[in-house]
Amino acid sequence: MVRGASARQATLLGSAGLADPVERLSVHHLRIPVSSPRDHGSGLVAGDVEVVLVRLETRSGVTGWGEASPWSVFTGTAEQAAAALDRYLRPVVVGADTADIPAIMARADAALTGHPEAKAALETALYDCRGRLLGLPVHALLGGRFRDRIALSVSLANPDFDADLALLERLRVDGVGIVKVKTGASDHRFDLMRLERLRADFPEFDVRVDYNQGMAPHEARRRLADIEAFNVTFIEQPVPRTCWAAMADLTRALKTPILADESVFSPDEAVRAVSERFCDLVSVKLMKAGGLRRGMAIAVIAEAGGMACYGGDMFETGLAHLAGTHMIAASANISLGCEFYQAKYYLAGDILTAPFPIENGEVIVPDGPGLGVDVDLAAVKAYTITETNG
Ligand SMILES: [Mg+2]
Repeated sequence: MVRGASARQATLLGSAGLADPVERLSVHHLRIPVSSPRDHGSGLVAGDVEVVLVRLETRSGVTGWGEASPWSVFTGTAEQAAAALDRYLRPVVVGADTADIPAIMARADAALTGHPEAKAALETALYDCRGRLLGLPVHALLGGRFRDRIALSVSLANPDFDADLALLERLRVDGVGIVKVKTGASDHRFDLMRLERLRADFPEFDVRVDYNQGMAPHEARRRLADIEAFNVTFIEQPVPRTCWAAMADLTRALKTPILADESVFSPDEAVRAVSERFCDLVSVKLMKAGGLRRGMAIAVIAEAGGMACYGGDMFETGLAHLAGTHMIAASANISLGCEFYQAKYYLAGDILTAPFPIENGEVIVPDGPGLGVDVDLAAVKAYTITETNG
């Protein structure tokens, strides 16, 4: 009995119900069709995307799901994520108590270097299990809710700009107020033409641009001076990931804030961003950071350095979007909105039993247990190309 605790707390603390070890783990490699091609400069995506899901089942019968959403030109491959979960992380988690998530993830880091997407999937599934056991949403397990809605940004990257103009009309009707234009993939004049058209025909949108590392440092300053004329909210990752000094030069030279995406994967790179001032803003992604708590650590480091954060993503289903939503809900400094649009506006199908929650251009933070929306087993089966159980 804990002195001063309520009867319910005493019941919980005094019971064995908080121990709930993982008994089974399965890995599902999915291939999901997409609705249109996308050119991000650093890579063209067409036809389909591949994600890896991990499903955990605990002694109490609770099931939790997590997603790895790799991209070969950015973080890694689906094959790597599947092997990481099936072979290297399985022994770390099977038999471990879901009450001990930080300890499990520390053992995961000790057992396997890198592979942030696989670790993000594992940690998500553990939190989903834990939340479902305790009847709490994941954001409550992460410390509580700072916000219950997140402004949605949709990225424009179709090589056919007429198709993006049609998408913009749809976004306007849907109440979406933010778009991010993928620039630097082809000709600088194509980027300027699109921004001119956007500002003329869709003046109400908050516009950001993302170069996906698409410029050499020597050409960036002149081109970005042209871009600044369109009063964009931020310029994301103009030069390659490791050009930290060039990022710092651009941050000093431009009035428009520079946002680091590929240049900040991890908390240690966030420390570097703050100490070297190579950006004004940071994109936090589960698949770069390796999980929710590490993503939150990046946001806290950035906050201490005076840098606001943006909720980025990869080519994700609604499942990974949900994990990111709970992280942002619990993170005061991830304040620039999120880009969890793929499930609704990009994938040809999703894997949740209900649509990923978006209303009037905002993501609605779920309050149900765990991630808050269930996985549709039939959809998972339909898109699965390989599966391992144990
Ligand atoms: Mg980016």
